[in-house]
This record gives sequence, C-alpha cells and structure tokens, in this order.
Amino acid sequence: MATGYVYDPIFLEHDLRGHPENQQRLRQIMSVLQQRGMLERLAHIPAIPITQERLERVHDPRYIEQVRRVAERGGGNLDMDTYVRPASYDAALMAAGGLVEATRAVLDGELDNAFALVRPPGHHALRARGMGFCLFNNVAVAARYALAEQGLDRVLIVDFDVHHGNGTQDEFEGDPAVMYISTHQYPHYPGTGYWNETGSGAGKGSIINVPLGGGVGDEGFARIFEEIVGPAAWRFQPELILVSAGYDAHWDDPLAYMQLSIGGYTAIAQALKDLSEELCGGRVVFTLEGGYHLEALAYSVLNAFGVLVDDTGWRLVDPLGPSPRREQPVDEIIERVRQVHGLSRG
Ligand SMILES: [Zn+2]
Repeated sequence: MATGYVYDPIFLEHDLRGHPENQQRLRQIMSVLQQRGMLERLAHIPAIPITQERLERVHDPRYIEQVRRVAERGGGNLDMDTYVRPASYDAALMAAGGLVEATRAVLDGELDNAFALVRPPGHHALRARGMGFCLFNNVAVAARYALAEQGLDRVLIVDFDVHHGNGTQDEFEGDPAVMYISTHQYPHYPGTGYWNETGSGAGKGSIINVPLGGGVGDEGFARIFEEIVGPAAWRFQPELILVSAGYDAHWDDPLAYMQLSIGGYTAIAQALKDLSEELCGGRVVFTLEGGYHLEALAYSVLNAFGVLVDDTGWRLVDPLGPSPRREQPVDEIIERVRQVHGLSRG
C-alpha cells in the first residue's frame, strides 16, 4: 500500500500568462517533489477523462457543453477571473476524472491515501456556471461518485482554501450525506460562507462555515481543527474524507491576508490524516485548489505528502518560516460556530 498522486501534463495546458492560476503553480510543485525525492516514494495514478454521466451528477449538461464550445472555438472568459483556453475543456475533464480515480483507488483499497495534483481547480464551480478560476467542481464530482457508485452513506469534505467553496456548499447544502466544513477569509471572494449558512432541509447542520477575519495563523487554525473540525467529524462519522486543499491562506500569498505558515499547513494535513485513521480506515484524498505563492504552495504540498506517506513523524521542510506578523484571536468565532452547531466542549 502506498500514497498516490494524480498528475498529467495536460494540466499545464490550461494556462494564461499573467493570471495567478497558471501552469507555473503545478510546475513548481512537481519540481519540488522531484528535487526532494518525494515522487519516487509515491504511486502515480493516471488520470482519465471524467465520464459525462459522472460529471452530470454535479453539472448541467448545457453548461458542460458551453465549456466545450468555448474551448473549441479557441478559448474565452466565463467571467472576469475565469478563463478557458483551447485545452481547458480536456484538462478540466481530466482534473475531475483524476480525482475520481484517486478516490476509487483509495476506496478499492489499492492505495492508503492520495493527493490529486490537478488543475483547473474546482470548489467555486456551480452547477451551471464556472467562476473563481474553476470550471468543474472536482471535489463535488468525487463525493457524488463515492456516494452513487461506491455505496458510501457519509462523505466529509474539508476545505481549507482561503476562499469559501461556494460551489461545493451549493451542491450539498440540502444533502445530509455530505458534510462540508470550510475555513476561509470573510468577508472576501466569493462573498458566501458566513457562520449562519448551515445547510437547508434534510441537510440542515451539515454545512459548517468558519468565517475568519484576516490575520489568523498557525495557532488559530490548530484550535479550529481541534475544537470544531475534529468534534464535527467525530459526530458525523464519515466513511471517506475529501480535502479541498488550497494554500492561499499562507502569510505571503498575494491573494489574501491569512497568516498560516508551511508548518501550520503541515499540522492541518496531520490533523486530517489522524482523523481519517480514527474514523475511516485512513481513507483521505486531497485535491489541489488555490495557492498563489509558488514556493509556499510547492513546499506545503511536499509536506502534505510527507505526512501522508509517513506514520513516524515527517520532518518539516519550510524555506519561508513563520509569519512575521502577530496572529488575530479566534476565540469568538470558535465559540459562535460551536454554539450554532451544538459541539460540546472537550
Ligand atoms: Zn482560494
């Protein structure tokens, strides 16, 4: 058994020079994994294009067709931030398909756990609209696959990207089979994710939003995982944990104002791996979302793999160090979220 990674060169072809979500992100990750001898410790999972049936569980066929046509006619923009290039449709099919393959391999017991290094990212993509650099909602497609084809009853999605995963919340807010927990800067793009958004109908309580003012760092995140994510996951008893892994909450990221360090991100990876071992036989699958400081991104991913492959304690590699600024307190928001969701102390 091993830790798997998804990578395919087609993910580099979805690219726009000068856009923060460009191919350099994945190039830098692969180069650091290579240099540090990590790739040879991992099992490569070949990506395959997502089938129409699997994609249509999450996306409107007319929207899928729209993305295909925009790519086919040479590219264009879905909104101000979200570009489509000629190869983007195929890359997006492979991104969603790659994550489903990783999920399948872990659920079938071929791998211990996995990290899908895919682009374009997904957590902002809505049923009938791409936005926020995202074309298809990879993590939502993988969760739907696990429920529909693997017979799972409960999937937990943890999203620590600095932006709220509005697309993922939208997909599952009425569905008690999927718990979605997101930590994000608020108010910030895309504007959703306040603590009072907790799901609706049968899904009431299965959306847990932890909106954070700027300046929350390693200590704050450690407490949030200890006092909110852990107890909520224990109560939910997931059979699989999917992780929307965004590294744009790093203190030097250009797109937001959080203060996580690479060490803080690594502690989060460890907390999620521990939870997966306690609750669901270690079945955890990470998928790449944001992260726009190339070095912070690449080393955070390296350390996440270190945690995933190693059960004796990975030695942190952090060329950037801790945030130079003081952290903002999180007591109030933790108290608020615990109260809203009835999470008991201890
Ligand atoms: Zn983000």
